Amino acid sequence: MTKGKQLYEGKAKIMYETGNPDELLVYYKDDATAGNGAKKGTIADKGIMNNKMTAFFFEYLEKQGIATHYVSMPSEREMVVKKLTMFPLEVVMRNVAAGSFSKRYGVEEGKVFASPTVELFLKDDALNDPMLNSYDALALGLATKEEIAEIERLGLKINDILKNFLKEKKVDLIDFKLEFGKDSSGKIILGDEISPDNCRFWDSDTHEKLDKDRFRRDLGNVEGAYKEMLRRLTGEER
Ligand code: ADP
Ligand code: UDP
Repeated sequence: MTKGKQLYEGKAKIMYETGNPDELLVYYKDDATAGNGAKKGTIADKGIMNNKMTAFFFEYLEKQGIATHYVSMPSEREMVVKKLTMFPLEVVMRNVAAGSFSKRYGVEEGKVFASPTVELFLKDDALNDPMLNSYDALALGLATKEEIAEIERLGLKINDILKNFLKEKKVDLIDFKLEFGKDSSGKIILGDEISPDNCRFWDSDTHEKLDKDRFRRDLGNVEGAYKEMLRRLTGEER
């Protein structure tokens, strides 16, 4: 596996070309940002832990019949993935009120929903990732009606699979953000990552936060929370 030209450096990851035009190499950094880059820092070994947790979740989802971009993990900070044409959408799934949902609707954090919700946000840092609905996404030409329906169907299925799996690990899946893309045949595939950076995980008994909210809200023990999630998922300490 050759690490080629750098294509893009994002807030948490760097994407490189590989010898294979259909694949990319993702390098996971320790950099952490919140509030669309307003707050910056690093979380020790985050890149390693998020790479491992993402690989774990993607392998699990594949076994449950969900197509993901995951190919292999050549090193502890690197993942080989299928190159996708990404939809410029952040797809947020929620089971329990928290974060921007609680603020927007004036609902206390922790209110459990009768059924999950799906929200779409435009992935555009300059505009602060505004929320949009499926008609807006269609009007803007971001995806077809069928693609939006498929993205929402997959989001709900992934939510079901992960929520049930995490329950066994004594973790409540509060909410999380997914990104989807299309392969060269037009098939919709789950991309990006699934880690404490883009999910809210609460301990089922104590409701302790085991995710990036510890960084966003200065709650302390940020590394400890990521480590604990990795340990619950894979049994590894780092
Ligand atoms: P951001 O761009 O939000 O700062 P990252 O640092 O996580 O985020 O950068 C990763 C970038 O790679 C994101 O723009 C994401 O949409 C994109 N991406 C994720 N998976 C793939 C894929 N399989 N193919 C192409 N691009 C991808
Ligand atoms: N999220 C994300 N990237 C973003 C915005 C949100 O990964 O740019 C995730 C976040 O970690 C949480 C879920 O999406 O698990 C819902 O986030 P919310 O809309 O409540 O936003 P926040 O409170 O982070 O502003």
